[in-house]
Amino acid sequence: MNPLRGRLAVALIGLAVAAIGCTVLVRSELASLRAAFETDARIVHRLLSQRSAQQDAVMSMLSLLQSGSGTDAAGRRVASVYPQILDLLQRHGDASWTEPALAAAEDESRRERRAALAGVDFARGRYWLVQAATPASHAAQIDLRGMVPWEEWPMPPETSPVRVILEYAGQQFLLQAGNTGSHSGFDFRKRLATESQPFDVVAARGIRWSDLPWLKMLGWILLTAAALAGLLALERQRAERRRAEELLRLGQVARLNALGELAAGMAHELNQPLTAVLANTQAAGRMLNDEPAELDSAREAMQRAAEQARRASGVVDRLRRVVERPDVSAQLQPVKLEVAINNALYLLEPQLQQLGIKPSLGQTAVSVLAEPVALEQIIHNLLTNALQALAQVPAADRHLDIGVRIVDDKGRLTVGDSGPGIAADVLPRLFEPFFTTREGGLGLGLSLCESLAAGMGGSLTAANRPPRGAVFTLQLPLAAT
Ligand code: ADP
Repeated sequence: MNPLRGRLAVALIGLAVAAIGCTVLVRSELASLRAAFETDARIVHRLLSQRSAQQDAVMSMLSLLQSGSGTDAAGRRVASVYPQILDLLQRHGDASWTEPALAAAEDESRRERRAALAGVDFARGRYWLVQAATPASHAAQIDLRGMVPWEEWPMPPETSPVRVILEYAGQQFLLQAGNTGSHSGFDFRKRLATESQPFDVVAARGIRWSDLPWLKMLGWILLTAAALAGLLALERQRAERRRAEELLRLGQVARLNALGELAAGMAHELNQPLTAVLANTQAAGRMLNDEPAELDSAREAMQRAAEQARRASGVVDRLRRVVERPDVSAQLQPVKLEVAINNALYLLEPQLQQLGIKPSLGQTAVSVLAEPVALEQIIHNLLTNALQALAQVPAADRHLDIGVRIVDDKGRLTVGDSGPGIAADVLPRLFEPFFTTREGGLGLGLSLCESLAAGMGGSLTAANRPPRGAVFTLQLPLAAT
């Protein structure tokens, strides 16, 4: 895979993992916030229901006390124990209430046989509870704020983000302000458990940005980034190792092939002394057979033959470790040119980077018939030569163009560079074995490439290209599609 695309893919995966992790963290945080909110709201509802039930009980008790002893003082004492009772009224016999609203509630209380509501004034935080009884009915004015058992309250009323309201017939009494910063959040609504005081407990909690688990999310993102960085480093290491192995393999093939070239060159060198040996010994034989034998001349000829034989032995010495070049034609198979190019470019990536060269790739999909390693070897050699040529010109003038086309039913690969080009006297000798203009060069690369190309039924040619630089063209038979 293209390394840039690989890195992009890893970055995208990292983003996805970070996003999924953060979503999970936010959801679990919201779930625990909701659970805490619902628990608190239920506790509030229970506490207020208990208090209202307690108030019902106080009203019933007042009626009983009154009907028994008839003393007003006892009732007041009972009421004084409950701080939420602000005022206590009594109505005896035919007397009428000082508060006119209480009469209707008294009728309701008699009808329903329980305390009844009157004069609900949430703006001032009060309401009346009326209990009808004989001989006297009672009315207690309750302070809403005083009715709240703050000591058992499950949240800190000043700082809690939960808003708590009591609602009755469109009136609202705020018990706890909470935060109203956000619209989305949690809601709770439930009527008090006592029939006499049908107030709704309404709780709400907004979600603010500060409620989100930023620290945990940051931790998760850092963890993901660290894991990915580790993965990338590992991958880079593996790629380096693969590159090194690949170079080693190419190097070995190159060495084998170079030895093949060497053998061809040496055979040529051997031919000459061996022919001379043969000629000289044949001449000596003839001279010995002559009547009379020309002993001196024969001796001389034998000496020359021995000299040539020594020269040949020197050549053979150099040939000792010659290895036969592999026959590439036997292993031809369809190869995608662009794959071979990308493999070679991948191997040369460090050099490309070092020289600041970004190859331009005019690519068409072309499959040729080739031996994959030999093909890579040729491309590798051509690219290496091009890089060596480009290293000789200023960085800004370095261009490397690789083209793949089909021309005349052949797959054509061109490697063009903007280097110094090839001198006119060098051009015809370029593919000769051992021809080199580079100091320390073997001069075997191009000759090897040409024989490999020919071995695969193709050709390799070189030319200069205007305004400057060289271009090498490799042609190979197309693979049948
Ligand atoms: P070596 O690289 O060992 O010299 P090669 O056979 O690969 O052997 O190359 C032979 C010669 O061809 C090089 O010494 C160089 O003069 C010439 N040559 C090859 N490629 C290029 C190129 N892209 N630009 C200019 N000269 C080149």
